[in-house]
Amino acid sequence: MSEVEKVKCLIIGSGPAGYTAAIYAARAEMKPVLYQGMQPGGQLTTTNEVENFPGYPDGVTGPEMMVQLEAQAKRFETDVRFGFITKVDFSGDVHKCWVEDGTEIHADTVIISTGASAKYLGLESEQLYLKNGGGVSACAVCDGFFYRGQETVIVGAGDSACEEAHYLSKLCTKVTMLVRRDEFRASKIMAERVRKTENIEILYNTETEEVLGDGQVVSGVRVKNNKTGEEKEIPCTGFFVAIGHKPNTDIFKDYINLDETGYIEYAQPGTSKTNVPGVFVAGDAADKTYRQAVTAAGTGCMAALDAERYLAAKEG
Ligand code: NDP
Repeated sequence: MSEVEKVKCLIIGSGPAGYTAAIYAARAEMKPVLYQGMQPGGQLTTTNEVENFPGYPDGVTGPEMMVQLEAQAKRFETDVRFGFITKVDFSGDVHKCWVEDGTEIHADTVIISTGASAKYLGLESEQLYLKNGGGVSACAVCDGFFYRGQETVIVGAGDSACEEAHYLSKLCTKVTMLVRRDEFRASKIMAERVRKTENIEILYNTETEEVLGDGQVVSGVRVKNNKTGEEKEIPCTGFFVAIGHKPNTDIFKDYINLDETGYIEYAQPGTSKTNVPGVFVAGDAADKTYRQAVTAAGTGCMAALDAERYLAAKEG
């Protein structure tokens, strides 16, 4: 049997929530160990320019910001490790976690900052422009600004899609919204707001066939009406996908209370506490409303402070 490693504070995930938690926990001498997970740096590594994180007047690229956050966490001797947690057992006083290489860790406190992943359509052309940073995005608040004065297309019919379409409508000359059924999933009030916005055109029963462009940047979308079979091309420079997010919380579901869509539920609003004492959550794994780097960082700070107080109370 491999040896068990004991740590005071284990942080799972390496987005702004995880690294901020690490900076605070390390400065509080909790000697945090942080596992970066499947996508070191998290969702921001798929974003080009970040212009809305305070403190960067000239903007910063997502990957650059994550390198800086990692460096800041390491400066205070956070043990940052490449790897991911595959299993947990939170049934006892000591929180057991297993790394994919078989390492077993017993942690006094755990901060879950595993984030959420945006869902995409899965089209080859969509993935191409997403990777290039050439006009496909899953976050209007993050990237909408780059398309001001231009035409954009957004897919989805939930509250997120409505909110993002409305956000884009203030920046873009025209927003075309692709709804795959003949009705919205969104709440009435959100759908109504979209319907009433002059520069949003809603195409019902419409699905995306292909994102068009020169291989570098997007120039349009080919869509198909799933009732009539009619195809057409819509010119646009930005293609937004707002078909939901999946929180990365599967491994915790036997121990941590999740809502019906998989987001972790706070045991006490206004704190980072989960239903398991000593296990805290930060960032998008518990946030389906704001989903911003700065809010993730804020909750990362809260989680580290809550963990520190938990340990102090326990150690008496
Ligand atoms: P939802 O799961 O509510 O909606 C996803 C939407 O994407 C649905 O309309 C769905 O279509 C559509 N969709 C899914 N897959 C595809 C596909 N392959 N092609 C085309 N369309 C697709 O996700 P949201 O992110 O909108 O919302 C998640 C939760 O967060 C909800 O509970 C929502 O109420 C909440 N929320 C609340 C907000 C607020 O109150 N301000 C803001 C944002 C979110 P279909 O309807 O046909 O299944």
